[in-house]
Amino acid sequence: MKKLFIKTYGCQMNVYDSARMAELLAPIGYGAADTTSDADLIILNTCHIREKAAEKIYSELGRLKQLKEDTGAMIAVAGCVAQAEGDEIIARAPQVDIVVGPQSYHRLPELIARISRAGGHALDTNFPMLEKFDALPKGDSPSGAAAFLTAQEGCDKFCTFCVVPYTRGSEYSRSVLQIEDEARRLVARGARELTLLGQNVNAYRGLGPDGETWSLARLLYRLAEISGLARLRYTTSHPRDMSDELIAAHGDLSQLMPNLHLPVQSGSDGVLAAMNRGHTVADYRRIVDRVRRARPDIALSSDFIVGFPGETDQDFAQTMALVRDVGFSQSYSFKYSKRPGTPAAAARKQVAEPVKDARLQELQALLLAQRNEFDQSCAGRVMDVLFERPGRKKGQAIGRTPYLQSVHAENAAPFIGDIHRVRIDAVFPNSLKVSLVAAGEKVLAH
Ligand code: SF4
Repeated sequence: MKKLFIKTYGCQMNVYDSARMAELLAPIGYGAADTTSDADLIILNTCHIREKAAEKIYSELGRLKQLKEDTGAMIAVAGCVAQAEGDEIIARAPQVDIVVGPQSYHRLPELIARISRAGGHALDTNFPMLEKFDALPKGDSPSGAAAFLTAQEGCDKFCTFCVVPYTRGSEYSRSVLQIEDEARRLVARGARELTLLGQNVNAYRGLGPDGETWSLARLLYRLAEISGLARLRYTTSHPRDMSDELIAAHGDLSQLMPNLHLPVQSGSDGVLAAMNRGHTVADYRRIVDRVRRARPDIALSSDFIVGFPGETDQDFAQTMALVRDVGFSQSYSFKYSKRPGTPAAAARKQVAEPVKDARLQELQALLLAQRNEFDQSCAGRVMDVLFERPGRKKGQAIGRTPYLQSVHAENAAPFIGDIHRVRIDAVFPNSLKVSLVAAGEKVLAH
């Protein structure tokens, strides 16, 4: 058997794609390698979101050059850096055999065969989305208790800071039946929770079994009927696509977890307009109010960018005010950094680094305080936890609450793969300590 090592960078969609690549290559004889030095094929499944992403990949390829000379391993670069850089990768790093974009990785077996037969390099950065999902294996390997499922890919929004529309292509939704079939297979293989993935998952517009175009809400109602599927989540969403129907689903579906990641990026209308976000701060606040009316115990998380070109002290103060008013259980925040080829990278009024640093520090302190406050408010409560894997200590199990908080419990190993009622005993910075309680004990709403 040949050995495959996949190094995955970035988001959950890349985690999903890496798992699909491993499934795709298993029938042609590739099993998992523990390290790059054991591998016959090394795939870097890359992400282009962070600063200097391409340069980091070139450094990694530099390290792999010697390894390739020693072991003869084949090297492939996949994902968004592959899409953005294309044949520049082969020009700068000729040790790379294959460059394959996120929409064409289903062609890996063919590209590997071509290189093995004829040598040279192979490049495929096309966007044959329809073909990709049809060509991917149906998936019969065991699933974890919490699994990901791609429902939608790509983006038509063109936020001025973001490369996704260029690397992942325009919005595309898989059909309802295709998603339902994958969901049923995952549940049959042990999944109790599914997270539907998409760069703009709530922009989902998939072909329904009735020939109509279905929304994400309709898809969620359908998936909620799958027996054995206890939890549903979806990420990442855009405020523009939070429809009334989707908000209502949060009130109707007990399977839909009370946790919503809804990136806002800034609390200033001027900055949101410059970002081309297509919504205002007031729109965002209205959505939050409506979601909270539909599901009062919902916890919100968000993404923020500070120091976007032209952001003034006053703009930043408005972001802080929005955070204070809304209250988030968890968030991601970054300093703006240029992405080559995006409109904001060429903007004249770039914010000085020390200003960005100071703003990020201030924002992160507030977000951390809110997260701690939220976690502390859970102390003593009874919740249902999905135990996903063993902990470091014997008998320990690690799981997640409905709000996505990580928990650990002693003597809970027999419950891995299932949902059990627990009491939150202690709150630590990165995990909650919980103990098992009788199934009949009442869950206290948050
Ligand atoms: S909505 Fe904006 S931030 Fe999100 S993927 Fe599309 S362009 Fe990027």
